Amino acid sequence: MNLVLPRVLTAVVLIALGSLVGWIVGSVGGWPVAGAVGGAIAAAVTAAAVDARRAHRLMAWLREPSDLPAPRGTGLWGEMGYRFERVLRGGQRRAQAERERLAEFLSAIEASPNGVMMLDAHERIAWCNSQAADHFGIDPERDRLQRVTNLVRAPAFVNHMQQGDFAEPVVFPSPRGQANLSVLVRPYGGGMKLVLSQDITASERTDAMRRDFVANVSHEIRTPLTVLAGFVETLATVPLTTAEQPRVLELMRQQTDRIQSLVDDLLTLAQLEGSPRPPADRWLALDPLLARVRADGSVLSAGRHPVECRVQAGCQVAAVETELHSAMANLVSNAIRYTPAGGRIDIEWRVRESDGCGEFEVRDQGIGIAREHLPRLTERFYRVDGSRSRDTGGTGLGLAIVKHVAQRLGGTLEIQSEPGKGSCFRLVLPAARVRAALVEGSDPVASTEQEAAGVPSAAVSERAA
Ligand code: ADP
Repeated sequence: MNLVLPRVLTAVVLIALGSLVGWIVGSVGGWPVAGAVGGAIAAAVTAAAVDARRAHRLMAWLREPSDLPAPRGTGLWGEMGYRFERVLRGGQRRAQAERERLAEFLSAIEASPNGVMMLDAHERIAWCNSQAADHFGIDPERDRLQRVTNLVRAPAFVNHMQQGDFAEPVVFPSPRGQANLSVLVRPYGGGMKLVLSQDITASERTDAMRRDFVANVSHEIRTPLTVLAGFVETLATVPLTTAEQPRVLELMRQQTDRIQSLVDDLLTLAQLEGSPRPPADRWLALDPLLARVRADGSVLSAGRHPVECRVQAGCQVAAVETELHSAMANLVSNAIRYTPAGGRIDIEWRVRESDGCGEFEVRDQGIGIAREHLPRLTERFYRVDGSRSRDTGGTGLGLAIVKHVAQRLGGTLEIQSEPGKGSCFRLVLPAARVRAALVEGSDPVASTEQEAAGVPSAAVSERAA
């Protein structure tokens, strides 16, 4: 209202001025009234033209608002320009904030490890994240607004979509065939659907491994238990002669030893899996440990093999003694068990000059292993020759334990073998977990099993922190 009055007054003043000027000009020619009327009309027309021009400029700005400010000025049009611009800029700010929120929301969905796809009411792809694109083998841009069942043609998925019962997820192989997908469909809004996909290949593999493991353990325990049960039954019904008794008891002892070894190895594995990594700053002197490993090997071999031991003395390793002993003892025990009598066994510990890594190496001249078995040797219960392994007291878990110990220390297990010629197993420990002794003028210590078990001591310096 307060904008209308000044406008009316301005118009009145302009028309009055026009008439005055017209009257003055008209008086000169002797027609003052006509001059006043003409002047008033001219003033009104000029005011209307200026008004129309300002309205036109504002309309032009409103039709295509740019970043430039709205046409301003005084009066009604200036005020309208200012107000329109404020409303427009407010709307633009809100739209920008909405766009940013949507972008954040979409990037959060994009970060999801699972696939997310939105379908419209006609089951056409409205949007999907890159995981879903990967799972279903589609292109998020190119395949937008394509019917999902035209692109994902797995029969299980197509049936699932047709039946419309989405209570349970559907499982099918991904179109590219590298993975198994579990897909859950959730209807929402007006007939739209959210499709959530998950790659379950790894969890299925873990489940299968767990099932295999339980089946293997049960099988390993059942066999000696069956033998023991047979003996117990025999003892209960048939009285043994004094000559038979020791043989039967020895056979029973062998079976209980078998179960005992299996349970021990299972417990070792469980402990390796369930406990934190050994601290990197708790140092263990290696010489007594290596002496024990060598002595254990000699007892196991019972003089059937020449056991050569070459040890770089005075080293320390950041490891847990029981774990490292278990790994080393397993390698030595394997070498002895898979090497016929007379075959030579070489045990060596050294710190590599080149990079400071520690190497525990066991070489044998035993039966060796065919190349195709090598990648699977460290799997639990994997045996090249099951009966030889069992006959020599093997559980099939030894190398799995060695690999676990190596991994926990950040090291590796290297295996070289040739059938009929022998094998070399090398446990490599990283330099950060190995300290070598600095003994001036001394060579690595070489010894054979015939040597005394005494171990030379030496000053220890930190080779690698
Ligand atoms: P096991 O208790 O059966 O010895 P391991 O896990 O220690 O189990 O070894 C797995 C398999 O690897 C063994 O069954 C054996 O066939 C093979 N193997 C391991 N060490 C040697 C070796 N030094 N020489 C030949 N074969 C070996």
